[in-house]
Amino acid sequence: MSKAQPWTIKDAEDYYGFKRWGGDHFSVDAQGHLCVHPKGDHRKIRITDIVREAEASGLKPPLTIRVQDLLRHRVSRLNEAFRSAIAGEDYRGRYRGVFPIKVNQLREVVEEILDAGEEYDFGLEAGSKPELIIALALLENRKALLICNGYKDEEFIELALMGRRLGKQTIIVVEQLSEIDAIIRIAKRMGVMPHIGIRVKLTTSGEGKWADSTGENAKFGLTAAEIVEVAEKLKKAKMKDALRLVHFHIGSQVPNIATIKKAVVEAARFYCELSRMGFPMGLLDVGGGLGVDYDGSRSAFESSMNYSMEVYARDVVSNVMQVCRESHVETPDIVSESGRALVAPHSILIFEAVDRIARDLGPVGALKGRPHQVVRELDAIRRNRRKFDPLERFHDAKAKREEAHARFSLGSMRLEERALADRLFWDVCRQLRADLASSADVPDELARLDSMLAEQYVCNFSVFQSLLDHWALDQLFPIAPIHRLNERPTVQATLVDITCDSDGKVDDFIDFEDVRRTLAVHPLKEGRPYYIGAFMVGAYQDIMGDLHNLFGRVNEVHAFLEDDEDDGFYIEEALPGYSVERILGMIQYNSEDLCRMLKRQVDRATKADSVRPREGVAMVDLYERLIRGRTYLIPHRDEKASLRRTDRR
Ligand SMILES: *Cc1c(COP(=O)(O)O)cnc(C)c1O
Repeated sequence: MSKAQPWTIKDAEDYYGFKRWGGDHFSVDAQGHLCVHPKGDHRKIRITDIVREAEASGLKPPLTIRVQDLLRHRVSRLNEAFRSAIAGEDYRGRYRGVFPIKVNQLREVVEEILDAGEEYDFGLEAGSKPELIIALALLENRKALLICNGYKDEEFIELALMGRRLGKQTIIVVEQLSEIDAIIRIAKRMGVMPHIGIRVKLTTSGEGKWADSTGENAKFGLTAAEIVEVAEKLKKAKMKDALRLVHFHIGSQVPNIATIKKAVVEAARFYCELSRMGFPMGLLDVGGGLGVDYDGSRSAFESSMNYSMEVYARDVVSNVMQVCRESHVETPDIVSESGRALVAPHSILIFEAVDRIARDLGPVGALKGRPHQVVRELDAIRRNRRKFDPLERFHDAKAKREEAHARFSLGSMRLEERALADRLFWDVCRQLRADLASSADVPDELARLDSMLAEQYVCNFSVFQSLLDHWALDQLFPIAPIHRLNERPTVQATLVDITCDSDGKVDDFIDFEDVRRTLAVHPLKEGRPYYIGAFMVGAYQDIMGDLHNLFGRVNEVHAFLEDDEDDGFYIEEALPGYSVERILGMIQYNSEDLCRMLKRQVDRATKADSVRPREGVAMVDLYERLIRGRTYLIPHRDEKASLRRTDRR
């Protein structure tokens, strides 16, 4: 990008990759605002408008925006993908998908999925007792499946069988050999014929970050020998009729379609063999793993996938059909448990950059007086810009700076001189970066100058609450400012959160099949909010976040398209994040006790005359008010320049 060319919104779309990872769902309007297109058509909502409306009702960022129509769109798209694959292949059998609740258990999310999936008889998958408790109540459609995975105790099994008694299509998937005896015993006691599935341990191993979910050492699933044993036990118990389903799950975010094909073929072979042994069967469950293209590269890179939802559906359907044809077995209904692919895109986290940490205070002028020898030597390196090779200058400057630090520690250099040495070093780095800007062959060490010189933008959110996988798994999420996109972003920055944890930062960003160490952002303007979005955070992030530094859940709004207005929207649900009081309650602090304890200390200080009574009252008021308040920062605002007035259309 040459500086001479004016910056356009097309440049912004390219740089931040909105079209690549967002498909038809994101665009930038002429005023430089990012818009979401919930249904992938022309209808759009400005994200800053949602933020403004949320702020008006008291919910400031950090804010989760759920774009409910986008969620519905994903549900239809998955179901339609399988429908058309089935029609295209003349496949005899239906698609009967389920949503794995663990990927996002929030009520509004699960309800929206069930509502959008009603016409497809879309069901649920539960992996624990609490999840099954949710599923039993919410899933009323008797044509939909309710798949029970995970470790199960007797209570879990009893609850699942109760579902059968209520006429639900509950299927208990056997994950451990020990479960089968319990299922048989409890089913006999309750007088129900259970519907059972078997999770198979495939030889095909996954790929990507979750590869360990498969293969010989996986913690779930039955080996061939164990499956034969289960078959025997069912026959002996006269429950041959119970066995209905074969299940596998090769881990989440499978980047490579070849892995999926191999797993489907292997699982279909298990299916055919069990069918050949005389079990009724009827269902093949291909688990989760359908990916999300976080970086938009359509590659087998970890944060991407080299296939689309439609290709996935076609490959699953055609491979099952082929194996069944070869084994002369009737084709089953196909179940999938796609979680990530359904829910990741609908959720956007908005946070505000509230401050910046620059490397140093900027260039220094000519030296005055006669500072320390080492400082003068650094200055000489700075002035000899043309004389030496860049790498050599860098090494010299680095060595001199280290020397300056050593002298300072030994007491032979003053604080002012050390400060000068640091600033001269950064001056040299800036020069080097400028000199190398148009060079194609930059040595590795110097290629890192960009991130060495990058600023840090302090952002009002917690990585541990809202982007846990970024910290735990190095998962990359698309991150971009949501306004000022018609302005050139001139600052290279990394993002740091407000937790007191040096790991609370984002310094890896998506790039086309690569990782960027810094993100280009706009200079902050005093008193004006600068909003940044983290996208595709609807899968897993909502629930795995923790209470590091006691920040807790963020504010949340649910936005819907307005039916009779082209670019209209409304917020149906506005949910405040945690108050300090609430989060303290979770770790056994009673806020009234705390207030009483503080008040006692204030009283003591008042009696001792070290605090005036009026001041004491104000202290207690402040403490009590803040304990009921919010955990996140409340940034300083220049009211005249707030988003509300300046950014209006
Ligand atoms: C986690 C999980 C899923 C969901 O996987 P995604 O990759 O998010 O689609 C599906 N099935 C089982 C058994 C799981 O454990």
